[in-house]
Amino acid sequence: MSKRQYLVAGNWKMNGSTASNRSLVEGIVAGAGDCPKVEILVCPPSVYLCPVAALLGGGVRLGAQNLADQDKPGAYTGEIHGTMLREAGCDYVLVGHSERRALYGESDAVVAAKFGVAQALDLVPVLCLGETLAERDAEQTEAVLARQLDAVLDRSGVHAFARAVIAYEPVWAIGTGRTASTAQAQEAHAFIRGRLAALDATIAGSVRILYGGSVKPDNARELFAGVDVDGGLIGGASLKSQDFMAICAAAQAQ
Ligand code: PEP
Repeated sequence: MSKRQYLVAGNWKMNGSTASNRSLVEGIVAGAGDCPKVEILVCPPSVYLCPVAALLGGGVRLGAQNLADQDKPGAYTGEIHGTMLREAGCDYVLVGHSERRALYGESDAVVAAKFGVAQALDLVPVLCLGETLAERDAEQTEAVLARQLDAVLDRSGVHAFARAVIAYEPVWAIGTGRTASTAQAQEAHAFIRGRLAALDATIAGSVRILYGGSVKPDNARELFAGVDVDGGLIGGASLKSQDFMAICAAAQAQ
C-alpha cells in the first residue's frame, strides 16, 4: 500500500497578532506550492480564524485548536460551537491536546465528547494522545495511549477514524526541545495503528498518525521516516514560516 498523504499541521497556541499572522501566512502560502505532496494545516487562535482564512486562499487548510463539547449552540459563555468554526472556514479541529488535558482539566470523556461533536458537525478531529514522562518511565506508555484511544473508540466506534487524524504527542517532548527518537515515535505509532487494526484493518491502514513534540527543521526528516508516521503537529516551529516550511519540505522529501 502506498503511504498515506503527509499532513503537517501548525498549532499556533495562544500566539500571534494581526501583523505577525499576516507575515506568517504570506510565507506559508508562498512556500506551499513547493510541497504538493503535503497537506498543510494551520490552527490559529479562534479570534484570528476568519482573518487567517481570508489570507490563506485555497491551498492551505484551516483548523481550530478547540471546540465546545455541546452538540447545540446556546448559553455557554466563552465557548465556541463547531458550526461557528465551520462558518469561519475550518475543516479540522484539535481535540484533547495535552495542554487542554493538563491545564483545563479535559478528561478522556470530555475529549471523546468533543471528538464526537466535531465529527457530527463535519469537522475532522485531530485527536491528540500521549504519555507524560512519569508514565513513560513507569512503562505505562501503551496503557495510557490505549486508555485515551479507547475512550473515543467506545463512544464513536472505529469507523469514526475514517474521518479523523491522530497525533501522538509525548507530553515530555512538547515545547521542551526534547524529541522522541525515530524509533520511539514509530513504536508508539505502530501501537496506535495496531490497536485500530484489531478492530478494522482498512481504517487502521488509512488513518493518518502525526508525531508532535519539538519537531524542528533539523529533526523532521528523520522523524517522518517511520512507516507509521504520516506527518507532524508542530507547535513552536510553526510560528516561523521558514521553519514551518522547512518541516513541510521534509515531509515532501519522504
Ligand atoms: C504542540 O503544541 O502540539 C507541540 C508539539 O509543540 P512543540 O512543537 O512546540 O513541542
